[in-house]
Amino acid sequence: MHFEGLVLVEVEDNVVTPHWRGEVPCPQKFNIDDIDADNPIEYVIGNWIEHYGRRWIDEFTGSGNGVNCPDGTLTPGNGERQTPTTATPDTWYCKITGETCPIQALVPTDNKEAFIRGCNVEEAAEELDKPPEQYKKGLFQAVRKGEFTGEHHMAGREPCWQCQQKQAVEDVHDPWALTAIHLHLDEETMDRKKRFRQAGLESWVGHPICAECFLELPDLFPDVEFSKWGLNFEPYQTVPYRLDFD
Ligand SMILES: [Zn+2]
Repeated sequence: MHFEGLVLVEVEDNVVTPHWRGEVPCPQKFNIDDIDADNPIEYVIGNWIEHYGRRWIDEFTGSGNGVNCPDGTLTPGNGERQTPTTATPDTWYCKITGETCPIQALVPTDNKEAFIRGCNVEEAAEELDKPPEQYKKGLFQAVRKGEFTGEHHMAGREPCWQCQQKQAVEDVHDPWALTAIHLHLDEETMDRKKRFRQAGLESWVGHPICAECFLELPDLFPDVEFSKWGLNFEPYQTVPYRLDFD
């Protein structure tokens, strides 16, 4: 298993400010001149993710906290995805019931009874090819055996709204590969909100967007004068990362 992607950073006069949202702590701004490495930005970001990212991933894949349910999804509804989700990030749904998952798709691998009690798949029993109780037991066994520890099933990873618009396959990102537009804008004004609404962008300003899509915003929304609202794209760039697990 490995994790890779791009982190968004802002570089001005050798000072680098990493930008990401989410629960994994983000590094403070740093000066390239203080770093003794060939690729100082990649070096700092890589080390940081190696430490905090690994710890975060361990937390979700480790046996102590349970494993994410293979029937869990960040997209509401049980049909094919038609429109980008406007769900609150980090809310897990069930692919079978189409509703919010009462245990947030986290299977407690050390407590079978709690899982059987917590999972409400019987509410969509007609969708199953076996009795709900039997289905749950089978799922629990499979999860416990480690058949479903794939990176896509990990709590805390979120989709990028723009990737979803593009119907990209890889639409779930690590927390450090996501930012949100509002974090880069000046203080909110009615004028700004009005312009963004006209461009169809206003409802997305608080949603997670990946570093790559973030840099595409000027092309995607050519009518929006981002610089007028404090967002100048020139100092921004992406930094690749890769985190390997055995
Ligand atoms: Zn994206």
